[in-house]
Amino acid sequence: MIVTRFAPSPTGYLHTGHAYSALVAAEAARAAGGRFLLRIEDIDATRCRPAFEAAIYEDLAWLGLAWESPVRRQSEHFGDYRAALARLDAMGLTYPCFCTRKEIAAEVAASAGAPHGPDGPLYPGTCRRLDAAERASRIAAGEPYALRLDMARAIARTGPLTMAESGLRMPAAPAVFGDVVLARKDVPASYHLAVTVDDALQGVTLVTRGEDLLPASFIHRLLQDLLGLPEPAYRHHPLLTGPDGRRLAKRDGAEALRDVKARGVSAADLRARLGFAASP
Ligand code: GLU
Repeated sequence: MIVTRFAPSPTGYLHTGHAYSALVAAEAARAAGGRFLLRIEDIDATRCRPAFEAAIYEDLAWLGLAWESPVRRQSEHFGDYRAALARLDAMGLTYPCFCTRKEIAAEVAASAGAPHGPDGPLYPGTCRRLDAAERASRIAAGEPYALRLDMARAIARTGPLTMAESGLRMPAAPAVFGDVVLARKDVPASYHLAVTVDDALQGVTLVTRGEDLLPASFIHRLLQDLLGLPEPAYRHHPLLTGPDGRRLAKRDGAEALRDVKARGVSAADLRARLGFAASP
């Protein structure tokens, strides 16, 4: 049984790029007689808004999509992420990181040729080198900390990994990200941890999302292997681009679905324009 999902964050209105992504997931499930799920990725309480979540349901229904209930909202499942963190900690693969963004930026700037990954400069490993006594005293003093994955140790444990991408096996090489954050200072989870745990708990067998997230899937494969979670197949789809050839993004003013609708475009027209059957 194919199980797919669309997993938006309620930090703004869905635009046509999101519609394309949602349709890819829903169509993959429909074509295979499978199930389509919707998940609300709302771990970041400072950026998420109830009005945007309500708009997600409205806009997707307008687009002709139907999803299973109840919808999983990540903010209601911090216990699941804490349990995963505890397992990784028990394996000796996480460490507290007290650094501020500013400190990390200063350290990166001070070291010539600091390595960069897909998301920018790699964490220089400052807090990985703290000893147990210093960690304990800073935690006891109430200093806020994130939890990072010790990438080198994690990879040493799993050995080389591969993933199923669009029907082919390819290497999954998460080392390029360095010691990623698994739990933020303000939230007991991060995107990478929550998405990996949720896809497994929800029984997702086919993860579809934009190709900009292909390298992120390397991290998810690693976490699946470490946590003994099932391995889904992946299909990273091309990103829609605007007339200028640049990818559609909220910050570049990609047109919100509600504005498309307000212009009098029907959902059937939009679906057809995006290359899908006009009716679900
Ligand atoms: N919440 C993520 C986003 O909106 C989901 C990406 C994913 O499918 O994993 O980009």
